Amino acid sequence: MNPERLARIRLMLSLRQPDLTVCLEQVNKAHNIAAIIRTCDAVGIHEMHTVWPQELRENNRAAKGSHNWVKLNRHDSIAQAIAALKQQNMQILATNLSPRAVDFREIDYTKPTAILFGAEKYGISQEALALADQDIIIPMVGMAQSLNVSVASALVLYEAQRQRQQAGFYQRGCLLPYDEQQRLLFEGGYPRLSAFCQSKGLEYPVIGEIGEILADELWWQKLQLHPSQWQEE
Ligand code: SAM
Repeated sequence: MNPERLARIRLMLSLRQPDLTVCLEQVNKAHNIAAIIRTCDAVGIHEMHTVWPQELRENNRAAKGSHNWVKLNRHDSIAQAIAALKQQNMQILATNLSPRAVDFREIDYTKPTAILFGAEKYGISQEALALADQDIIIPMVGMAQSLNVSVASALVLYEAQRQRQQAGFYQRGCLLPYDEQQRLLFEGGYPRLSAFCQSKGLEYPVIGEIGEILADELWWQKLQLHPSQWQEE
């Protein structure tokens, strides 16, 4: 991996916010999912949570995690997703167009936070609303009843980003576990080789200080490759 690429990935890792996440409940349009993932990456979200509609579980590109900078954590039900988030001591915010919702700018996003977004047509389920700590709303004064879900996610996430920036949360250094850093360095620095490893079911090698692959002969043999074949990545 070249030094510029390594530096860029390391910088990205150091800015990740593992205590900020989103959970998509049955969001079903691929372009919305892709746009939300992109915004998550842009504000430094490391891991997203999803409960996919049935039709997306089998054959959707976005749903399959093609966006490899943001980890997609899939859950079978919203109850399961929220339970996992609560276990990480996250406050659970439901974006919801209801009279009891508070303005999204009144929330303290420097707390560990998970933000729920609902399906394009039906919004967030009653089950999710009952499990959330707080409903939040983006005020609207026009004729449309709601915003597009990806637009709503961008607005809320950039308020979280603004608050965290002000609080110095982007100067904390890398908070991701070592294994996650290694995974992202390998997948980001050696995309073809990591895809190859996945297809062969091979473990990833360690990535060294200067971005080099630290693997023994046996590992290369298992790949049936010679190290020189991967120098260009
Ligand atoms: N008819 C649905 C409803 O009543 O919730 C509209 C769903 S809206 C198109 C899709 C999602 O975008 C919502 O579930 C919510 O997550 C988010 N959203 C859209 N506009 C919002 C707003 N003004 N405030 C908070 N969330 C909003």
